[in-house]
Amino acid sequence: MNTAPPPFPTSTVLGYPRIGPRRELKRALESYWDGRSTGEELRRTGALLREQAWRRLGELGLGALPSNTFSYYDQVLDTAVLLGVVPDRYRGPSAEDTYFAMARGTEGVAPLRMTKWFDTNYHYIVPRIGADTVFRPDAGKPLSEVREARALGLRTRPVLLGPVTFLLLSQAAPGGPAGFVPLDRLADVVAAYERVLALLAAEGVDWVQLDEPALVADRTRTELDAVQAAYQRLGSLEQRPGLFVASYFGDLGDALPILASTPVEAIGVDLVHGGASALDALAGKTVVAGVVSGREVWRTDPRRALAALLDLRARAAQVVVSTSCSLLHVPYDVNLETGLDPELRRRLSFADQKVAEVVELAGLLARTPRGDAPLTPVPVPAARAEAPPEPKGRSPYAVRAAAQAGRLRLPVLPITTIGSFPQTAELRAARAALAAGEMDQPGYEGRVRAEIERVIVLQERLGLDVLVHGEPERNDMVQYFAEHLEGFAVTRHGWVQSYGSRCTRPPILHGDVRRPEPITVRFAGYAQSLTAKPVKGMLTGPVTIVAWSFVRDDVPLRDVVFQVADAVREEVRDLEAAGISIIQVDEPALRELMPLRRVSQGSYLEWAVQAYRRATSGAGDRTQIHTHLCYSDAEQILAAVDALDADVTSIESARSHARILGEPAVAGFGRGLGPGVYDIHSPRVPGVGEVEKSLRAALEALPAAQVWVNPDCGLKTRTYAEVEAALVNIVAATRRVRETGGAQ
Ligand code: GLN
Ligand code: ZN
Repeated sequence: MNTAPPPFPTSTVLGYPRIGPRRELKRALESYWDGRSTGEELRRTGALLREQAWRRLGELGLGALPSNTFSYYDQVLDTAVLLGVVPDRYRGPSAEDTYFAMARGTEGVAPLRMTKWFDTNYHYIVPRIGADTVFRPDAGKPLSEVREARALGLRTRPVLLGPVTFLLLSQAAPGGPAGFVPLDRLADVVAAYERVLALLAAEGVDWVQLDEPALVADRTRTELDAVQAAYQRLGSLEQRPGLFVASYFGDLGDALPILASTPVEAIGVDLVHGGASALDALAGKTVVAGVVSGREVWRTDPRRALAALLDLRARAAQVVVSTSCSLLHVPYDVNLETGLDPELRRRLSFADQKVAEVVELAGLLARTPRGDAPLTPVPVPAARAEAPPEPKGRSPYAVRAAAQAGRLRLPVLPITTIGSFPQTAELRAARAALAAGEMDQPGYEGRVRAEIERVIVLQERLGLDVLVHGEPERNDMVQYFAEHLEGFAVTRHGWVQSYGSRCTRPPILHGDVRRPEPITVRFAGYAQSLTAKPVKGMLTGPVTIVAWSFVRDDVPLRDVVFQVADAVREEVRDLEAAGISIIQVDEPALRELMPLRRVSQGSYLEWAVQAYRRATSGAGDRTQIHTHLCYSDAEQILAAVDALDADVTSIESARSHARILGEPAVAGFGRGLGPGVYDIHSPRVPGVGEVEKSLRAALEALPAAQVWVNPDCGLKTRTYAEVEAALVNIVAATRRVRETGGAQ
């Protein structure tokens, strides 16, 4: 570039929430999708939310404001649009139609795939890149945000997903040449970025942030070479803004010296989740130091943060104080949580508090004279408490299986569901009325019992073998348990975007976890009292409860999970004592907590499995333990799933066309397995023939005695009409297979 960029301001954040403090964007999107409002109204809400966010950041005193962190759906999808990667089948009458068609599909066209953003609970849209994809860059969105902010008198730094991460997160378009990977298109994608950077420079932008979180996972030599090539080339561009490459969610490792060897002026490092290794390579660069966690909710320890900043200042050309990642992953403002215990509230820091922390640390750093020895190092948290001894396990599977068969007397190919039945509008209204004090507890419980009765009667009528109570009392499979355990708090406004307009309100696990009294026993017992068939007790597993909460960071994660496991263990015992013969402990998040770097994955899986076994091994041999995992690509962790030692595992399969059944590990899976035969993510009702085919495929892969019949996941998002039609077909198909022998 011709001249060096102006110095980077001393404080910034990598991104800010966009759903709106009161989920304004969610409402605007859903109303637009339902045809209740126009594109114009949606755009107005977007502009207002952006303005509010920039003004707020300015008021809080932040030095450098990010832009283009707003999105109507997802920033990876936005990047695909930026690069002009829009498959023709999605093109609609307006730009909005096209955009939302990619995200959500249309009548006849399935949407692009969606998957989890690294190890967070945010989900992004997966772009598809082929050997002949044409890139037609369109910088309209980042440019208009820069102009919008400028009209408010504010300078901003556009944030773009970087080219390497964009390609690594993309999927190869089907039907391409053998061995093709999206990264093969690096040169063309970098050319598109060159065009975008030139346009931003012409607009007077002086810094651009390029996010490269993919660099904190293990990368091959080829991938690291791509980093070198991309940034060497972007750095050599004549007319361009200053380049700030941000990494987050971990340590840059081998990618750090490579990035540092390119002409990029600034590099962002996550000092909360990454080590501080190889930071000497940053000499001569501006370092954007992520010392305030962007994804946990605890106040930053200023001494520890300052020590890290001073240490960096001794090595780098300039140090900018920042968050470890975008604040997208935390709620807006802890001051809205007036219902929280004030003691706890003082320990918490949501997005706005984190911005204030960043600003304060930048001031502190500026006031600490150069050459000052870093403060006395802050001691690392105490070594982890010894894990409590492993409780005594259950008998070997064969012994248990015999005991259970004698007690349960199930037919071959037992039919069951995953737990939840449709959550009706009346139920939601009753829950809201209870929260608003318009309905009393007995009134509410009466509604829940009536719903349980309806679900039991329906299942008996349809001819299912193992029944469920339907989970009508649960707003959410984690929040429900958090509300009934000590050590957790729940917020009122603490919404965090999960995908598109969807948000979750993660509970806060802040102290030692205890179960003051049984949680699920009453409703489970009531359901069982209505039928002679077995009703499954339904619990959420310890890993999932922790994965979908904000978790204390003063003790090792493993120990926190073990505490939750012990609470679940008590619940298992009590369900058993109440006569429940089958207990399902769901672990859909088992894979989600998996560390990004391979070196840490083995030990994670080991303790995660241990936690599950702590939770379930108190059950007697005659009690059948089920587990459920939602995803089909469990191949990666089938060994761990096996090690959970549940008597029966149900897993998604319908949606992925039974790919799982082809896995060699499935053939060796020695216990009950229910590959889903009904894709509950779709309103489509599977036909009898289709279910029959799935069952016959399962019987080819597994001995009949091991096969269970169930949907892919819980039914709560479907309607009763859909569920009933699907279950009728599932029962009919199962009977056919039972009668025609296939299942001997
Ligand atoms: N038992 C839960 C349900 O049926 C499981 C949900 C899940 O796997 N995400 O809703
Ligand atoms: Zn599921």
